Amino acid sequence: MKLSNGETKLTSMTVKIKDTFSLNILCAEFDKELRNCCQHVYNIEHQYKAIRVLKEKMTKHDVLIHIDFSENLMCKYASEVQSVHFGASQRQLSLHTGVVYTVSQTLPICSVSDNLAHSPTGILRPVLRDIKERYPDIVNLFFLSDGPTTQYKIKDNFFMMSSIPFEFGFASVNWSYTEAGHGKGAPDGVGAVVKREADRLASHGTDITGAQQLCTLLNDNLNVQMFYIPDKEFSLSTSHNLQTIKGTMKIHQVFSNSKYVISYRDVSCFCKAPMSCNCFTPMV
Ligand SMILES: [Zn+2]
Repeated sequence: MKLSNGETKLTSMTVKIKDTFSLNILCAEFDKELRNCCQHVYNIEHQYKAIRVLKEKMTKHDVLIHIDFSENLMCKYASEVQSVHFGASQRQLSLHTGVVYTVSQTLPICSVSDNLAHSPTGILRPVLRDIKERYPDIVNLFFLSDGPTTQYKIKDNFFMMSSIPFEFGFASVNWSYTEAGHGKGAPDGVGAVVKREADRLASHGTDITGAQQLCTLLNDNLNVQMFYIPDKEFSLSTSHNLQTIKGTMKIHQVFSNSKYVISYRDVSCFCKAPMSCNCFTPMV
């Protein structure tokens, strides 16, 4: 650039250069950017999308079980004496709700227990037994739950998911976790229905006194498959020295197709489901 006093000065100018890529490369680049700068939003979107893909490709050999721990339920008495209503003597039950999706059916489920441990160990055996009986063709289990809370994404659960299902003859287990704070959905609705029905029964003069009795009552009155879980189901007997996986909070998918062996990764992928794939760098 030439100035009025005759001097020449160098300036830089930004210009656009036209470049041509395929749409796929552009999408992949955008995906990468989004992943780097906005991990949380990316994970929410990605997990929803992955589960949608899974639902579309499910066959008669697959089942998707969306589960969620629902808060405790107070035992109810049609006419409560004051000491029960206000005192510490009021019994509580724990509810574990879920929805079982097969290629032909959607089945709401709820387990009830007097044990308040909230561990999924309790719900797993009775539900898997029921699935095997109802749908003998099913060999691949897909679970969906919220993650960063304590009960699902811990070493005990990893051990359980890589052992118990194989005792029932399932061939693969694939557990996906929704992003923090975005795991609510159908199981929550099941919990609300169960609690409302328990309230309705109590208001019509039926005492709710324990898990087994509630289960029998609701199996007769609701379109929800109820499971009573006795205390003994909650004990996880393992002589294995379980190691905590580093970076557990980041894990969004755990896969197992042989006893005691798991692989895991930051986000879910079902491109080769029910087989595992190498997308998103799985770790063993
Ligand atoms: Zn994949």
